[in-house]
Amino acid sequence: MKYYSTNRQSAETTLDEAVIKGLAPDKGLYMPERIPTIDRQVISQMKDMTFKEIANIVAKAFFGEDMESAALQEIVNDTLSFETPVIQVDKNIYTLELFHGPTLAFKDVGARFMARMLRYFIQKTGNKQQINVLVATSGDTGSAVANGFLGVEGIHVFVLYPKGKVSPIQESQFTTLGQNITAIEIDGAFDDCQALVKQAFTDSELNQKMYLTSANSINIARFLPQSFYYFNAYAQLDKTGKANELIVSVPSGNFGNLTAGLFAWKMGLPVKRFIAANNRNDVFLEYLKTGIYTPRPSVETYANAMDVGDPSNFVRILDLFAHNHADITQMIAGFRYTNEDIAATIKKVYENCGYLLDPHGACGYQALADYQLQPSETGVFLETAHPAKFKGTVDTILNADIEIPAHLQAFMKGEKQSVAFGKDFSGFKSFLLK
Ligand SMILES: *Cc1c(COP(=O)(O)O)cnc(C)c1O
Repeated sequence: MKYYSTNRQSAETTLDEAVIKGLAPDKGLYMPERIPTIDRQVISQMKDMTFKEIANIVAKAFFGEDMESAALQEIVNDTLSFETPVIQVDKNIYTLELFHGPTLAFKDVGARFMARMLRYFIQKTGNKQQINVLVATSGDTGSAVANGFLGVEGIHVFVLYPKGKVSPIQESQFTTLGQNITAIEIDGAFDDCQALVKQAFTDSELNQKMYLTSANSINIARFLPQSFYYFNAYAQLDKTGKANELIVSVPSGNFGNLTAGLFAWKMGLPVKRFIAANNRNDVFLEYLKTGIYTPRPSVETYANAMDVGDPSNFVRILDLFAHNHADITQMIAGFRYTNEDIAATIKKVYENCGYLLDPHGACGYQALADYQLQPSETGVFLETAHPAKFKGTVDTILNADIEIPAHLQAFMKGEKQSVAFGKDFSGFKSFLLK
């Protein structure tokens, strides 16, 4: 399979290069030249398969030509060391719980898969140079990437995060690991961290002296494996006869997750419609309404992993639909929620349904409630993080003291190790060069 850049100014490339590079040289995002399909009959048999079996079918369709099948299978099985159960929350509203991985957020799937695939290609291409992964985080990406790459030979991860702006639970998940993970605390905002990473990628001296890549959802190996669990959700609902008219609601920030869902649909997964659930950062909703895309600086909300003002995977969605606005609005609906809405939903669903939502999942749930499902339709929203990751917010909303799962508590007992820098580039650069 060849991969092309959404900007179409770079040559087509192979999977290994797309994964090692991350971004295309013309700054576009890589897309597979074609989307393989999976037989309807195979999809209908998935209700009797395990998550790993399902994921292996999807992975083989995409990556099978470019990797040895035993190696691919090992990567898939190793990635999915946890389940993604579907649970009924309300009458015809279900949730796909994606927070049972090591850092309790859905990003574990993509981060673990990418780490393993990258290691495979480094070994295969005989690359002796250390690969340095730079990642800016407002919380969840850093923890998933750091834990996904922990101990992977030949790769060093630098996590840049804004001082005092990530929750203590999140911070402990990437500052206590040691080994090949270096946490860098920046005296600034998330945007400053992101700017430093971007500057590093364009700095010619740095790029001559060291191999840099990113682990954001721009990377094919990070976002595409997320399509596995859409098939799994379908299979679980199909088992109870609930998958005929599926509406899938995705709490969205950079839109990697939703894009993976669209890939699953293009591969043949029967989904009737997707919903992009947003917080106040609603540039995508505005695009759906007007056909005009106007990126703008993000605003802080309770659902902070969705505080994105210029979603990087938007170009992939445009590309998938050949830039046809009408086709996009036909397949994707949009809703947006304020902090007050999010708080009201968390309270309401906890009291009426006994289900504890996190602020991101709350947007996903509420979008299905507002979509007004037909009796023949089933709604499923992706619960992207465990509520304990946002304990401060959830506790205040519910006036409660929610429990922190044991393996999150374990992180918090570790010793914080990080290096501190200001937001100017020179200090960070000379540190990298050492
Ligand atoms: C990253 C994240 C999102 C947004 O996912 P995208 O793929 O960037 O759209 C939603 N919820 C949580 C908890 C996240 O960590």
